[in-house]
Amino acid sequence: MKNNFPIFQNNPDLVYFDSAATSLKPASVVLSEMEYYTQYSANIHRGLYQISGKASESYDQSRQIIADFIHADSEEIIFTSGTTASINLVAQCWGQQNIKSGDEIVITQTEHHSNLVPWQQLALAKKAKLKYIPVTSDFLLNLKSLPKLITPKTKIVALTHVSNVLGTINPVKKIVQAIKKLNPQTLVLVDGAQSVAHFPLDVKSLGVDFYAFSGHKLYGPTGIGVLYVNRKTYSSMSPTTFGGGAITEVFWHKTILDHPPFCYEPGTPPIAQAIALSQAIKFIQKIGWHKIIQHEQDLTNYLFQKLNSISHLKILGPGNNNPRLGVISFALTKPKSPAPHDIGDIISQKFNIAVRTGFHCAMPLHHLFGFNTGTTRVSLGIYNTPKDIDKLIESLNYTIKIFS
Ligand code: PMP
Repeated sequence: MKNNFPIFQNNPDLVYFDSAATSLKPASVVLSEMEYYTQYSANIHRGLYQISGKASESYDQSRQIIADFIHADSEEIIFTSGTTASINLVAQCWGQQNIKSGDEIVITQTEHHSNLVPWQQLALAKKAKLKYIPVTSDFLLNLKSLPKLITPKTKIVALTHVSNVLGTINPVKKIVQAIKKLNPQTLVLVDGAQSVAHFPLDVKSLGVDFYAFSGHKLYGPTGIGVLYVNRKTYSSMSPTTFGGGAITEVFWHKTILDHPPFCYEPGTPPIAQAIALSQAIKFIQKIGWHKIIQHEQDLTNYLFQKLNSISHLKILGPGNNNPRLGVISFALTKPKSPAPHDIGDIISQKFNIAVRTGFHCAMPLHHLFGFNTGTTRVSLGIYNTPKDIDKLIESLNYTIKIFS
C-alpha cells in the first residue's frame, strides 16, 4: 500500500499516524492535479474552446462521482473548501433566516471546534439557546437525554459521525430517527470529516438534512470540501455570498440567481481539486471497503493491545469493543511522565513518527475529562502497518525512559 503514496519514496522511514488531521495522497490524486495543470488548465463553464470543455466535463463528472459515493443526487452536492466551510455555509445560508431569538440549537459535547463555534456564534448573534447532548463517562453520547433536549423550539441538531478525539462512531441513523420522532421539523447536520474515509455512507438511508466533509481527509486534495443538502431543504436556504458563475441574469438593480447547487458556488471553484477528489474516490473503490475496514480494524486491535502494555497510559475514549475507529488519544499519568508535546517532539526527531499532540480542536471535551494538557493522538490510515505500531511503541517506551 505504501508504494501507492509518493511521499514514502521521499521519506522512506516516515511513520504517519496523523490521518485524522489530513491523509496522505496517492499517486493517482497527485497526477490528476498535475494532468489538469499541464494538459487542460482552463476555467470551467465559461470558455467555448476545447480545453475549457474538457475541464468543465471533468469537473461536472466529479460532482456526479462524489454524489454516487454517498448515495446523493449531484444537485445535492455543493463544493466548498472543506468541512469547516460546509458547516459555516449552513450556519449562514440556513441559520441566518431560520434561527430567531429563543430558538434552540443542539450539538454534542464531543464536537470539533468547527462544528461548535459556528453554532455558538450564530446562537449569540440571534439570542438563541445552544444546548449540548452530554457524553457519558464511557465516552458515548447520552441518547437518553434526547427527549428532554429536543423541544418544539429545536431548529437544528449538529453532530459528528465519528469523534476526532474519542474515535467513537455515533449511531447517526438511530439518532436522526429519534430526533425526527420528537420534532419532525428539526433538521440534522452531520459532520462527516472523520467518517468518510473509513466506511461507506448512504446519506438517504441515514436520513440527514446536511452532511459535511473534506477532500483532504479522504486521500484527496486540500482546498476542496463537500456539503450534501437534502434537496427539499434548499427551499429554506438562500446564498450569503454572491458573484459570477452563480447567476442566470443580472440587471442594474436586481439579479436572478442560478439554481442550487450553483448559486452557492460563486467565483472560480477549486477545479483541479474537485477533479482530483474523484480520483481519490476511485482509489478507495479500487481497494474496496471490505479490505479497508478489515485492515483498519486489525490495526486498531493491535494498537490497543500494544498501548495497553504501557503502564499509566490513559486513553481518552472507549475500548475497542465499542463501535469505534483507529483514532486513539491518550496521556501518560505517572508523575514525571512526558507531556503530549514532549512525546510528539521526541518521537518525531528520533524516530520520524508523526502523531498529533494537544487538544485536536476539541478543547471543551479534553477539559471535561480532565485531560488539561491535551493528549497524544494516533490516527490510522490505509498505509499503516503493524510494523509502524511496533516502532511507535518502541518510541514511546524510549521517551518514557528519558523522562524517568
Ligand atoms: N470536524 C471534525 C470532526 C474534524 O476532525 C475536522 C478536521 N480536524 C473538521 C471538522 C474540520 O475539517 P477541515 O479543517 O478540513 O475544515
